[in-house]
Amino acid sequence: MLDCQVKRMHEYKRQMLNILHVITLYNRLREGRVDQTFVPRTVLLAGKSAPGYWMCKLIIKLIHSVGATISANQIAREKLQLLFVPNYSVSLAQRIMPAAELSEQISTAGFEASGTGNMKFTLNGALTIGTLDGANVEIRQEVGEENFFLFGLTTEEVMAKRSSYRPQDYYAQDPELRQAINQLLEGHFSPENPGLFHPIVRSLLDVDWFFVLADYASYVACQDRVAAVYRDRDLWTKMAILNVARSGFFSSDRAIKEYADNIWNLPSVKS
Ligand SMILES: *Cc1c(COP(=O)(O)O)cnc(C)c1O
Repeated sequence: MLDCQVKRMHEYKRQMLNILHVITLYNRLREGRVDQTFVPRTVLLAGKSAPGYWMCKLIIKLIHSVGATISANQIAREKLQLLFVPNYSVSLAQRIMPAAELSEQISTAGFEASGTGNMKFTLNGALTIGTLDGANVEIRQEVGEENFFLFGLTTEEVMAKRSSYRPQDYYAQDPELRQAINQLLEGHFSPENPGLFHPIVRSLLDVDWFFVLADYASYVACQDRVAAVYRDRDLWTKMAILNVARSGFFSSDRAIKEYADNIWNLPSVKS
């Protein structure tokens, strides 16, 4: 499965949630906690960080480090690959979106104004794993809820939880999450510099403004459902076809005509 998250780097877009899932798959593989039904994945990330966004640049470094650790493991590398494509641009998007099978639209609910990458993937036949955020809501409505992999807290739940949220409780209660975080703490992915990723761990355990740990279990369970559906080729194909057939609403022609009619009050040249 070609599993893609390509978009600007930002903490609210939660590339970290994706990385924690990849680390979880790596641990399951190397500890023999999978059977022959495991769906092999290439997880591809791309996206630029603002030059001064230190945390996002550290997350890019982590993607490279986890990718290299997986590639160095004889067992894990047979079925899992984590790649970062540099210099994300429209030209790269034009190649990646048509190739993608799974579209990662996993921002914290309430933070994405709309998103347009999500539409590009859907129009090109990928299935989406996503939160109820931005235009994911409309995409799910158009393609049908049974053809969309939904997980995570809603905007209302995020707002209600914020004041009492304790990310360390999730760390304490979930063994797979705890193992992944402990590996970041112990320098498993950066043995030459064991403390390299400590700032990421501190941000997640002490603050976690974007509810990464709160959504981890729901995300991993949903990814397991994604894999189960992928194994059923006819079902996956049917869902992908319905996504394309029902996503005409996201055509830029329709959007621009609405602007022309309702905002700009312009007649079309060819009427
Ligand atoms: C579509 C696109 C974006 C926006 O992607 P989102 O997933 O909506 O954030 C950013 N950069 C490039 C190059 C794009 O093509």
